[in-house]
Amino acid sequence: MSDVPCLNCGACCATFRVSFYWGETDAAPEGIIPSLLTEQVNLHYSCMQGTNQPSPRCVALLGSIGEGVRCSIYEKRSSTCRDFSYHGENGQSSPACQRARALHGLPPLPFDPQGPELIPTIAA
Ligand code: SF4
Ligand code: SF4
Repeated sequence: MSDVPCLNCGACCATFRVSFYWGETDAAPEGIIPSLLTEQVNLHYSCMQGTNQPSPRCVALLGSIGEGVRCSIYEKRSSTCRDFSYHGENGQSSPACQRARALHGLPPLPFDPQGPELIPTIAA
C-alpha cells in the first residue's frame, strides 16, 4: 500500500482548470500530452478537457474520487500536474490540495508544517 494519498483521492483533478503551455501537447514537436484530450484556452495555453467547466473533471481521470483513482496519461501528464504537490509532500504545505479535498468532502491531510519535531523538548 502506497503512502501517497493521491491514489485514494483525485480531488485536484476535478477541481481546477488544468492548463499549460500548448507546446506541452503532442501537437508540438517536443510535446507529450495527447492533444486529443486537450482543448485550447487561448493563443498560448491549452487545458485538459473536462477541466474548463463549472464542475470540472479531467477526462484522463479514471476511478472514483475519494476512493480509488488513476491518471490514464500519468507518464504523459502536464507540468501543471507534475508540479502539483499533495499537502505534506516534501515537508511542504499545499493549501490548494487541502481546498480541493474539502470541496469533495474529504478530510484534510494530517500534515502540520509546525510539526511536533519542531517543538523543543525539555531535557529531563
Ligand atoms: S487533492 Fe491532494 S491528495 Fe488529492 S490527488 Fe490532489 S494532490 Fe493528491
Ligand atoms: S492529466 Fe492526470 S494528473 Fe493531470 S489533471 Fe488529468 S487525471 Fe489529473
